[in-house]
Amino acid sequence: MASQRLQIAVAGAGIGGLAAAAGLAQAGHRVVLFDRFKTPAPLGAGLVIQPVGQAVLSRLGAFEAAVGGANRIWRLLGHSAEAGRRVLDVTYDAPGAPRFGMALHRSVLFDSLLVCAQEAGAVLMPGHEVASAMYGWVEMRDGRREGPFDLIVDACGAGSPLSALRARPLGYGALWGTVRWPEDTDLERGELRQVYRHASRMIGVLPLGRQGAVTTTPRRDDSKTAAIFWSLRNDEYARWSEAGVAAWQDEASALWPGFAPFADQITAPEQMVMARYSHGTLRQPHGRGIVHIGDAAHRASPQLGQGANMALLDAWALVCALRDAAGDMDHAIRLLSAARRRHVAAYQWISRVLTPLYQSDSPALPKLRDRVLFPISQIPAAQELLTRLVCGDLLPPLRHLE
Ligand SMILES: Cc1cc2nc3c(=O)[nH]c(=O)nc-3n(C[C@H](O)[C@H](O)[C@H](O)COP(=O)(O)OP(=O)(O)OC[C@H]3O[C@@H](n4cnc5c(N)ncnc54)[C@H](O)[C@@H]3O)c2cc1C
Repeated sequence: MASQRLQIAVAGAGIGGLAAAAGLAQAGHRVVLFDRFKTPAPLGAGLVIQPVGQAVLSRLGAFEAAVGGANRIWRLLGHSAEAGRRVLDVTYDAPGAPRFGMALHRSVLFDSLLVCAQEAGAVLMPGHEVASAMYGWVEMRDGRREGPFDLIVDACGAGSPLSALRARPLGYGALWGTVRWPEDTDLERGELRQVYRHASRMIGVLPLGRQGAVTTTPRRDDSKTAAIFWSLRNDEYARWSEAGVAAWQDEASALWPGFAPFADQITAPEQMVMARYSHGTLRQPHGRGIVHIGDAAHRASPQLGQGANMALLDAWALVCALRDAAGDMDHAIRLLSAARRRHVAAYQWISRVLTPLYQSDSPALPKLRDRVLFPISQIPAAQELLTRLVCGDLLPPLRHLE
């Protein structure tokens, strides 16, 4: 039971919001979770939860359910489409060893966290689109007001109306789709595979586990699936859609024949959803009585696969900060800031530097990537650093808060 039982509003029932709601309710606080969706449903593609995010899921009691619906990946492997040679190769540990990437549908993660939050007593209020927050009150788009709360947690993700963050849109985004794992593929289920043409095209296959219970598109065989992605300049999307799926499949197969059994399952452009990326970090991810977590506080392209992990870490840091501050809200916010500032800054900076190597119009950067950075990355000390970068613990993610 919390030393002081606080009334807490969490705006946004995505990854960070659900994790915060679960942890805060488990700590004994009264938590109300507002989301604009009408019925609980996750949006978006599959993703990878790295070891640091898995540790948060364990603490919340969500790990077993999540890993049960996930696929374990041990290696990130990228090839150049032109030369056919390896240009990215990062391993976690050997298969069977402790560290791995948990590749799963958002719906599986969503379900696992939602169960934890609700079992702990958090109350979910769907159909509540938050418009603003002031003096402990939350105002909805339709004028309803809820409160007062001792603390408001902004977990509304990218585009949060509560956050002052104005992120810089990136030129490239990606089309994402979900398909069955084909029988006629020789790709390994333990590897995230990517193929690049310069930096202007990235094709990927992320092997996933099952589709979750809340999915809106249930499939016949949904135990082994894959997320596929195809990078695209934002201004190319209309042309891609008009050209039709067959033209895309031809182009994709020419660049990477191994992609064909995945791409062939797409029959209409609408099965591929365009995700646009942006980059930015809130200087001060808190205000009077409000904290911003996850994408509401920092946004990056998913190149490093850290956004969901960052949201989970922010949520857990908040739970620990409130526990350690014993009711002193200003102190709790200072603890939270101190715990996360350096980790967030480091990952945001690295993401900003690395993204153009994989998604940009630059002719020079992919050469630097393939001819200089890749050979360096194969030196054992560099391999160890890259593994830690991907795992999420290049720097201590929570510093003294655990
Ligand atoms: C294509 C793609 C692939 C990615 N792959 C990875 C990956 O492999 N690994 C990784 O770690 N990260 C990945 N990410 C990033 C990751 O998805 C995000 O960083 C993460 O979801 C952020 O969590 P969040 O809780 O801040 O926001 P979200 O998970 O986006 O949740 C926000 C919630 O707030 C709700 N909401 C929004 N506005 C309002 C409002 N006004 N009122 C009420 N509710 C509102 C939304 O309905 C939603 O439920 C990927 C992102 C994309 C786009």
